[in-house]
Amino acid sequence: MKLPEILLHLLYPRRCPVCDRPLRREEALCPDCEQARLSFTGGVRCDVCGLRLKDCICGERLYYEKAVFPFYYEGSVRKTVQKLKFHGRLDLVKPFAEEILRAARQREILSDADVICYIPMYPKRQRNRGYNQAQELAAELGKQANLPVEPLLYKMTDTEIQHDLPLSRRRGNVIGVFEPTPEFEASIAGKTVLLADDILTSGNTLNEAAKTLLIFGAEKVYGLCISAAKKKKKQNGSK
Ligand SMILES: [Zn+2]
Ligand SMILES: [Zn+2]
Repeated sequence: MKLPEILLHLLYPRRCPVCDRPLRREEALCPDCEQARLSFTGGVRCDVCGLRLKDCICGERLYYEKAVFPFYYEGSVRKTVQKLKFHGRLDLVKPFAEEILRAARQREILSDADVICYIPMYPKRQRNRGYNQAQELAAELGKQANLPVEPLLYKMTDTEIQHDLPLSRRRGNVIGVFEPTPEFEASIAGKTVLLADDILTSGNTLNEAAKTLLIFGAEKVYGLCISAAKKKKKQNGSK
C-alpha cells in the first residue's frame, strides 16, 4: 500500500455494512458476517428454503412458495438484527435489504412479484416500540426493488413472542391471528406477494400470514427474511 492510500485508509476505513466493523480492503463483509451468510450454490438444496437438505427448515404443509434469507441468525448478524429490532437502528435495514435482494435474485423470485407486504405487529406493541422493523424493511425493499409496499395484513391478537415459546406451542400460537387490512382486502386477489420479516425461527408466523393471503386470493406468497435460526436436532417435524 502506498503512503497516501494508507493515510486514506486510516482516515476513512471501510466498515462492514452489516455490523460496522472495519474491513480489509478486499472484503465486502467482515469475516464474521461472511460466515453467517448463506451460499445458495453447491450440494442438493431444498427448493423452498434454499438450505442443504440436512438443514431444511420446511415442514410438510407450506403456504409460501419459497423463503429467502441471506444470513443465519448467528454471530454478528444476530447482534445486528437485535440492534434493528430492539434499539431503533433503522439505518440497518438498507444493507440488509441489499443482501436480501441479492439472495432473492439468485433464487429468481423477484421477476413475478407484484407487491411487498410485511408481518404486522400487534398495534399496541408497535406503539410501544415506536416502529415495526419488518415494515421498515419492506419499505426499503420496495424502494430498492422498485415495487409497491402495501399493509395487506393486520394482527388481531397479541401473541406471545414466538422465540420465547417452546416449538410445540409455536404453531398454535399464531393460527388465525392475521386478517387482511380492510382497505386492502380487495387488492390481494391475483397478486404475487413478497412478505418481509426479520427472523425466520420456526416458520409458523410466515406460514400463517401466507395462508391468510392465499385465503383472500393471493396467487403466490414468498417470504423475504434477513435471517433464519439454524435448525436444531430437536426441531424435526416443526416448521
Ligand atoms: Zn460484519
Ligand atoms: Zn426447506
